[in-house]
Amino acid sequence: MIRIEDLDFSYGRDGFRLTVPKLEVAAGEKVAWIGPSGSGKTTLLNLTAGIVSPDHGRIVVSGEELSALGDARRRDFRVRRIGMVFQEFELLDYLDVLDNILLPYRINDSLTLGPEVIERARALAEGVEIGDKLHRDVQKLSRGEQQRVALCRAVLTGPDVILADEPTGNLDPSNKERVLDILFRYADEHEATLVMVTHDRDLLPRFERVLDFDELCTPAPAPAQEARA
Ligand code: ADP
Ligand code: MG
Repeated sequence: MIRIEDLDFSYGRDGFRLTVPKLEVAAGEKVAWIGPSGSGKTTLLNLTAGIVSPDHGRIVVSGEELSALGDARRRDFRVRRIGMVFQEFELLDYLDVLDNILLPYRINDSLTLGPEVIERARALAEGVEIGDKLHRDVQKLSRGEQQRVALCRAVLTGPDVILADEPTGNLDPSNKERVLDILFRYADEHEATLVMVTHDRDLLPRFERVLDFDELCTPAPAPAQEARA
């Protein structure tokens, strides 16, 4: 579950400001977030993941009040309980497919990389049909395959919340459906909560609920818009 109350966040004094009076996503719910480019979708995902902290307000994820945790505990919580799928995959070119999937265990001291984790990574790769490419360079994969590596990495720790940032962007229609199939299957099997930011209106009917950022956020008085979204 996700519960956000009275959230106020800005990138510095004159930067983009996001205010969210109230937002709830129930445990196990599958929600799409839509909104124009630059409306703060990625920012809200990063706040929900605890990557950035609000200036005011409460963010509760899976019963844990993220906004009350210190940096180290928030990071630990994110690594274990939240699966992030980044807009541009964020795969590491110098690691092969398997090591990219195992990355959370390689970079976090609080997770122990044992044989059972490697077995789980193999099984996940097998399940999304990249099991024969474990030792391939990630740059040599198609975009659809790269996205599946990112999905495997996001779910390796068995998170109860998946936050996916436009995971179907730049994929062909069959790969888009496939990404959704994978996310939905994981969410169903683990009773996980799924939030997916998307521009693909074709995909919206599959979600239980669509949250439109135009209605969700009360826009602040427009500061000078400079950066690209
Ligand atoms: P969306 O994902 O809906 O396209 P973002 O959350 O990425 O929107 O961005 C919302 C606004 O915040 C944009 O105007 C963007 O330029 C600005 N922004 C995003 N990240 C930063 C940052 N790290 N520092 C300053 N401004 C940022
Ligand atoms: Mg974005």
